[in-house]
Amino acid sequence: LSAPRKVDVAVIGSGPGGYEAALLAARMGMQVALIEKSALGGVCVNWGCIPTKALLRSAEAFDLVRKGAALGLHAPGASFELAAAVKRSRTVVLKISKGIEYQLRKAGVEVVPGEARFAGPHELDIIREGAVADTITARSIIIATGGRMRTIPGLEPDLRLLITSREALAMKELPASMIVLGGGAIGVELAWFYATIGTRVTIVEMMDRLMPLEDAEISEALKRSFQKAGITVATGSKLEDVKREGERVTARLMVPGEEPQEIEAERLLLAVGVGGSTEGLGLEAAGVGVSRGFIETDALCRTAVAHIYAIGDVRGGMLLAHKASAEAAIAVASIAGTSAEPLEDTMIPRCVYAEPSIASIGMSEEQAVAAGKNVSVGRSNFAASGKANAYGSLEGLVKLVFEAGGGPLLGAHLIGHGAVELIGELALARSLGITASRLSSVVHAHPTLSESIREAALQALGE
Ligand code: FAD
Repeated sequence: LSAPRKVDVAVIGSGPGGYEAALLAARMGMQVALIEKSALGGVCVNWGCIPTKALLRSAEAFDLVRKGAALGLHAPGASFELAAAVKRSRTVVLKISKGIEYQLRKAGVEVVPGEARFAGPHELDIIREGAVADTITARSIIIATGGRMRTIPGLEPDLRLLITSREALAMKELPASMIVLGGGAIGVELAWFYATIGTRVTIVEMMDRLMPLEDAEISEALKRSFQKAGITVATGSKLEDVKREGERVTARLMVPGEEPQEIEAERLLLAVGVGGSTEGLGLEAAGVGVSRGFIETDALCRTAVAHIYAIGDVRGGMLLAHKASAEAAIAVASIAGTSAEPLEDTMIPRCVYAEPSIASIGMSEEQAVAAGKNVSVGRSNFAASGKANAYGSLEGLVKLVFEAGGGPLLGAHLIGHGAVELIGELALARSLGITASRLSSVVHAHPTLSESIREAALQALGE
């Protein structure tokens, strides 16, 4: 056992929250230890954002080849090799993880392998192979341990038939059929991926629509598009009596207004949400509280213990990588004694990378009305866009919600190819409090999908 070491800041977990916090603190001249029990980059780099996007790119290419006749593309007998796509995704992951390692080294962050556990308010035991191998004493501690997949009692994953997104990202053979339980971002992305490469997919969502937190029009458009792509979408529905029988999962699908239906599939993917990863951290030893599975903090990511912060998925709220990184900046500013502004949820863009993709920021029309706002809404369909027509991807909508009477943009809701790349402009528009009149006076390049943003703003102006 080496002697206890003293650092200015100890960061637990190296996801987009943790590595960003470590880099920022080190670049300010603080001595930083970053403790990671698994791979650098966290869930985001290793089992979340990055591998999903790499795999989705493979499926998108396959989709194009298969449906490309209208574009003059003929590739009879084209097939998809899942193992090769998975291999490529792991290569991408490794490259990004190595890049993070390099940046951390360059910034002078000490990366400490092992599992951190509080031994006291300032002390962390570092556990390796089941034993305490190291102790670190830190002036400030940032908990960035991320999330863990929620399960449903009786539906604990066996990692073979009943799987989580992690197994779905490293499958060797294509299953003929899959039930995806949960119609949130992870369920939707993986449902589209598997359906596109040839799996018969059924999505079961308990709420009355897919992506229940998105604007209702967007959810509806996604459902229509998925059904057209041959995905069975059961919303407001439940699975009962789930059984694992030999190599299959069987269940009873309860759709409102319909007779119960017996369904079966080779895999059941559990995508029912994420809770905070707080187990085994010894939070009691530090006096840090947990509520509904997430670490309790104030708006500036401070726990009840003055020098301990929590950021990212473990803190709850929007479970997104860029939200974790933004919170890293808040926590580090607070440690450095500079002023920090709380992060507003309505300033955080949200993206889903299926085809069509979805991107949004701020309030939906329903939320704005419920908040007592008078709104003027503008829409523009991709079907009217020269670029979308040239591209051959006509499904798409830009919906902008402004405060009526020349007020600022309250929310933006996009669906369609490329939506995730268009949201940046609208995030900027939100952060600057841009009005419909201002946005519609900005010159947008032609032909681009971004013209649809200007068109929607014009429509909101009533022109
Ligand atoms: P994480 O990235 O979860 O990292 C936490 C790290 O802490 C892990 O490496 C873990 O090993 C480590 N750790 C935990 N406990 C300890 C301990 N006691 N000691 C040492 N180390 C510990 N978000 C997006 O914004 N865009 C996307 O496209 C996107 N796609 C996703 C796709 C999937 C399939 C999944 C599962 C998630 C996706 N997410 C996406 C969500 C995103 O991955 C998370 O919001 C993000 O990773 C949260 O970052 P974090 O820093 O809080 O923690």
